[in-house]
Amino acid sequence: MPMDIQQDKAYINGTWTTAADGRRFSVKDPWTDERIGEVPDIGRAEANDAVIAAHAAFAPWAKKLAVERADVLWRWHDLVQVHARTLAELMTRECGKPLTESIAEVRYGNSFIRWSAEEARRLHGEVIPTDQADRRLLVLRQPLGVVAAITPWNFPFSMITRKVVPALAAGCTVVLKPSEETPLSALALAALAQEAGLPAGVLNVLTTTDAQGVGEVLTTHPLVRKVTFTGSTAVGKLLMAQAAGTVKKVSLELGGNAPFIVFDDADLEAAVEGAMASKFRNAGQTCVCANRILVQRGIADRFIPLLAEHMSALRIGHGLEAGTHLGPLINEKAVAKVERSVADAVAQGAQVLMGGTRSGKRAFHPTLIVGVTPGMACFREEVFGPVAPVTVFDTEEEAIALANDTPYGLAAYVYTRDLARSWRMGEALEYGMVGLNTGLISTAVGPFGGVKESGIGREGSRHALEEFTEMKYFAMAGL
Ligand code: ADP
Repeated sequence: MPMDIQQDKAYINGTWTTAADGRRFSVKDPWTDERIGEVPDIGRAEANDAVIAAHAAFAPWAKKLAVERADVLWRWHDLVQVHARTLAELMTRECGKPLTESIAEVRYGNSFIRWSAEEARRLHGEVIPTDQADRRLLVLRQPLGVVAAITPWNFPFSMITRKVVPALAAGCTVVLKPSEETPLSALALAALAQEAGLPAGVLNVLTTTDAQGVGEVLTTHPLVRKVTFTGSTAVGKLLMAQAAGTVKKVSLELGGNAPFIVFDDADLEAAVEGAMASKFRNAGQTCVCANRILVQRGIADRFIPLLAEHMSALRIGHGLEAGTHLGPLINEKAVAKVERSVADAVAQGAQVLMGGTRSGKRAFHPTLIVGVTPGMACFREEVFGPVAPVTVFDTEEEAIALANDTPYGLAAYVYTRDLARSWRMGEALEYGMVGLNTGLISTAVGPFGGVKESGIGREGSRHALEEFTEMKYFAMAGL
């Protein structure tokens, strides 16, 4: 029988802890607003305690053999697999996404634990061919120390494993502050880490509504050597500025404004399916989801109606109801932002072909907007909702110019069957990730991350662990 993995305390130094002042906050189901749990509202003092605990745990954890760290991670991986269904249900209850998506996220999130356990043993240094006969020159890869991780609510499980587990595999210790919207998945993951034998202090989880105060402790504490963050560009900039005071390393995975480009020669069915998968996963609340659909004029008349047909089949509902494709948006602020975005497009002359309004308390109807131009908010900013804004273009050059006309550069998607054009587009798009003939690109084995204001650093792939190490040049002379 899977154990009950829902926790109601924070996790500091291997102990389930309450806030010093006893304060707590509720976690709500975003569809019903029903209270599904309560967790401590941790303050600055306990955040400081967590950093001290992580620092104390660092040396023994870093000294362990890579295979010993890997063994703990493997046990953690296996426990996540055993509890996958419970974790997925908990995730759906706190963030609203359909259960099928939560199940997929647990699998995806666990693939980072597996990958990090495998890679822990392959964190090699270098021996440089020497330029002086009596010297030997080496590069050591050493873990950074304490890492602070701040994560969002849209992927309450995988955004944690993607950061935390490579850090642990490399020999770092972690203080994690999950989103106040979704602390339960983070605590459940910590409970399984404890069960797997992760030593006290190696992973600490702070639940708090004081993101600013706790964030300030984590980004300014001299014992924290790296800040890794996924969330909005505005908060990412703030954290980077705060981390500058003590010259911490930063990894930032921030907002996107993904173009989804469909050329006349594309496989129409595949392009529509890709657009659906990319646009409507998590009700459009992902940083890599298609934000702007750019369609070449010769295929637009077939693409738009087929997209509308697929969209009309989407069912809105509670994430735990069978057959739900779209759950609620995370909170009222999110719905208001989508409403503003649609209103702005309409005010500037775009046409809403489908949807355009909220559904029930917090969901939003799948919305198709055509005639979108670069001045509109939905073209310039992440909509973060189930809204598909379509812009028609004529030439490849125009598509590239439209796609790159943004300060963001996370993911871009291209549909074409022309090999030469595929290469040209792959090279010309100013994005950290380009998907050709696919709307889904995330995997633990690929380097995920953005350029421009979409971020710094990469998560996943063999590069992931290196991000949590310092390169030490070791020159041995007099040999
Ligand atoms: P979103 O708008 O998608 O919720 P945010 O960037 O606001 O994205 O949130 C992502 C994470 O950043 C969450 O864990 C949130 O609590 C945290 N956060 C928000 N503001 C701050 C801040 N000033 N300092 C530190 N963390 C913050």
